[in-house]
Amino acid sequence: MSPETLVPQHPTAAESTPFDSDSFNQAVMSTYGRFPIALERGAGCRVWDTQGREYLDFVAGIATCTLGHAHPAMVEAVTRQMQKLHHVSNLYYIPEQGALAKWIVEHSCADRVFFCNSGAEANEGAIKLARKYAHTVLDIEHPIILTAHASFHGRTLATITATGQPKYQKNFDPLVPGFYYVPYNDISAIETAISELDEGDYRVAAVMLEPLQGEGGVRPGDIEYFQKLRKICDETGVLLIFDEVQVGMGRSGKLWGYEYLGVEPDIFTSAKGLGGGVPIGALMSKKFCDVFQPGDHASTFGGNPFVCAIALTVCEFLEKERILENVQARGEQLRAGLRAIASQYPQQITDVRGWGLINGMELNADIPLTASDIVNAAINQGVLLVPAGPKVVRFVPPLIVTEAEVNQALQAVAQAMASLV
Ligand SMILES: *Cc1c(COP(=O)(O)O)cnc(C)c1O
Repeated sequence: MSPETLVPQHPTAAESTPFDSDSFNQAVMSTYGRFPIALERGAGCRVWDTQGREYLDFVAGIATCTLGHAHPAMVEAVTRQMQKLHHVSNLYYIPEQGALAKWIVEHSCADRVFFCNSGAEANEGAIKLARKYAHTVLDIEHPIILTAHASFHGRTLATITATGQPKYQKNFDPLVPGFYYVPYNDISAIETAISELDEGDYRVAAVMLEPLQGEGGVRPGDIEYFQKLRKICDETGVLLIFDEVQVGMGRSGKLWGYEYLGVEPDIFTSAKGLGGGVPIGALMSKKFCDVFQPGDHASTFGGNPFVCAIALTVCEFLEKERILENVQARGEQLRAGLRAIASQYPQQITDVRGWGLINGMELNADIPLTASDIVNAAINQGVLLVPAGPKVVRFVPPLIVTEAEVNQALQAVAQAMASLV
């Protein structure tokens, strides 16, 4: 079977599976507020629900499906690797893992990589690495990690603590000690925290930030701020950790978000787009802070042959097909189109911002209109979008999105606005 024959076409009514959301809700924990559609097929930037309705997917998994859905290169990689070997323990050498790590090392400032299964898990690894470095190299007994207000780092206990948004922490205390929050893009807040949190056995060991805040409302990092921060970290020995889980792997139009800022981190993490939609996370370090020894950290599934072979296929496809050029061009097209819509609704839309294909459209905080209202209206127009907080509509399509597809999404946003205002 050639890979192309596996790409689904628009399903016929007979092929669609009836779906019962009541029985779903009886069996699945209610951790998500779900939109009332059940998706069962995809091809490229399109997905179909169980009633055969077609949507243009500007959510892309949730910034995960780098190459869209059922991409022939991924289908081929999945099939080939599954027939060969899909999982073995990290107690043995895994050649596919080595090949993926080598690709990442050759295409970033990293010297070494540890693989896990998700963004939160990669960030947990970064926190552990920074703490061990603090204890064993910086000689800090109680290391403190600075993170930003409105940040998002995951849903495990340590990463909700790192996340500077109280709504994710409520009712889950006691939280993990050793975190302190500062405003994003505010260098004097960092300087103050580093000097004031130096008391007894307590000292700032690391700063962990997103180069562009994703979930917190698509807020790009300020270049001057990050360059000053890099200098402060160099002078004080404080580690600079970047959470590249959402913005990395080409989504920003550069391979890594830090390239936008002109500074390199000491430690950084990746996940969402890395495997094109298969669960994989990665923690990257530089040699001087690579303090993990055998037994310090591990993951049962992390870096198995299956996910690594697929992720390497995604990485090589990005490079070979010059996908980053498409990300930049489509991103400019999208922002220009959204700004044209914003100019028609100056009372409702207050900002359009982003890098490459991670973009946000912010709504006026003083009116009732919410991001969910727009997302629901866009669903009615056949386009999937996702909020980033209550007032920002996020656009994170597959990186292979075409000019015509961006125009279709823009038309849906224009119609959604017209239907709501
Ligand atoms: C999504 C996200 C995470 C969490 O990733 P999971 O795979 O859901 O654990 C962490 N950091 C950032 C910046 C993210 O966008």
